[in-house]
Amino acid sequence: MAFVEFRDVSKIYQMGEVPVAAVRDMSFDIERGEFVVIVGPSGAGKTTLLNMLGGMDTATSGTIMLDGDRVSAYNKKQLTRYRRYDIGFVFQFYNLVQNLTARENVELASQICRDPLPADEVLAAVGLADRARNFPGQLSGGEQQRVAIARALAKNPKLLLCDEPTGALDYETGKAILKLLQDTCRQTGRTVVVVTHNSAFTAIANRVIHVREGSVAAVEVNPAPQSAE
Ligand code: ADP
Ligand code: ADP
Repeated sequence: MAFVEFRDVSKIYQMGEVPVAAVRDMSFDIERGEFVVIVGPSGAGKTTLLNMLGGMDTATSGTIMLDGDRVSAYNKKQLTRYRRYDIGFVFQFYNLVQNLTARENVELASQICRDPLPADEVLAAVGLADRARNFPGQLSGGEQQRVAIARALAKNPKLLLCDEPTGALDYETGKAILKLLQDTCRQTGRTVVVVTHNSAFTAIANRVIHVREGSVAAVEVNPAPQSAE
């Protein structure tokens, strides 16, 4: 059994009388420790897919498994625990608490989970050991995204999910974040899934899932991808 399994997953939104299939009969696997990139045009269903994988949205039909657990059968309470304990989230616009320092933002996440990593350890891992006492407003965009990654990693999650993590950054800063995410995956064996329009991600991924009109159009598997610079 693969680490992540999507089997015939559909998500139908009801727009008044009209059903809209955001995701339709989607099936794919992800192996433990892979760096996975999900690409596709706007409206293809990438965010819907990521939200279902992260327990923020539920499938209309089909099966979602993570590490042998049937996520698609979870009730509300189980989904809350799943989001809290099993999943780390990284967003395009960082979503940091502005009146807390970098370390406090990270500690906030540690406090709600089962098996946290020390805040100073994850801040050092993202290269921000000396910025722990700074507030988000005192940090650059790239540094704020590093804090957000540290916050997600502090939960010691089974899966790190990133939605357009370089979308708000310039090219060079985005490349550095790319490298950080790949290093995180390689050095800690953590499974990382990135939804992105940034084509630089596809060369460094173990698996690229191409999504089109709510379906998986193609999957490329690359056991030995390039290293991010
Ligand atoms: P992207 O992931 O491409 O950056 P979004 O996921 O935010 O963008 O939105 C993709 C499309 O889905 C947009 O056309 C948006 O209008 C539509 N959309 C997102 N959320 C809703 C919603 N709650 N109701 C209707 N349409 C939505
Ligand atoms: P992507 O992230 O690839 O841009 P989305 O997953 O946001 O795509 O959206 C896929 C499709 O589902 C789009 O047609 C979008 O308009 C529709 N959609 C997404 N969220 C909602 C929603 N909450 N209500 C209705 N339609 C939605």
